[in-house]
Amino acid sequence: MNLILLGAPGAGKGTQGKGLSDKYRIPQISTGDILRANVRNKTALGLKAKEFMDKGVLVPDDIVVGMVSDRIKEDDCANGFILDGFPRNLKQAEVLEETLSMTGKRIDHVIGIDVERKELVRRLSGRRVCRKCGASYHVIFSPPMNIGMCDKCGSEIYQRDDDSEETIEARLKVYEQETFPLIEYYTRKGLYAAVEGIGTVDRITNSIVGAIEKGRSNT
Ligand code: AMP
Repeated sequence: MNLILLGAPGAGKGTQGKGLSDKYRIPQISTGDILRANVRNKTALGLKAKEFMDKGVLVPDDIVVGMVSDRIKEDDCANGFILDGFPRNLKQAEVLEETLSMTGKRIDHVIGIDVERKELVRRLSGRRVCRKCGASYHVIFSPPMNIGMCDKCGSEIYQRDDDSEETIEARLKVYEQETFPLIEYYTRKGLYAAVEGIGTVDRITNSIVGAIEKGRSNT
């Protein structure tokens, strides 16, 4: 199963992607995580991407598209994958389709996670992330047991550079202008279903699984 998780920054794509990856035993591919790893390791790609990420705008398509095309050809994607944060505009969606069709593959489901803007800002501005395992916390709504330390692996928790107030606004605007049109694009292809992104992690996962099952029985 090849799945795309759509949704604004802070909608919970990363959190849901992890749970779905365990459930379906297919890898989660987060372009944001891959880019941040490149920034951390100071690769040529990371140095180029950082200036865009710090501003909250999209990294140029040629960088991201090449990265994803290579990743989905790896062996662990043979039975499927979950894309989290890609595609983020129509061009990326079109190139993805071409790349997949070259190997006889296609996207099976696109699930949008709906969260209202005010809640997105609230989540992103208080978000803290583990440097090592990527676990996500919120300073008020889900703080770690020990300040600054990950409950799961004990590593340091930090605030992403792009979770600052001005950058959050820029990222939400980019989402509305560039990514939102993908909802119509995938709806027309009969692949899109939306779930409510407010509630417990498990309840939202169940809604996504329900939407996938429903999509399967319709094809
Ligand atoms: P994320 O972790 O998904 O919120 O992504 C963090 C940042 O990485 C974004 O604000 C973009 O600058 C960049 N990024 C992630 N995915 C993409 C993509 N598909 N296309 C372009 N830029 C991306």
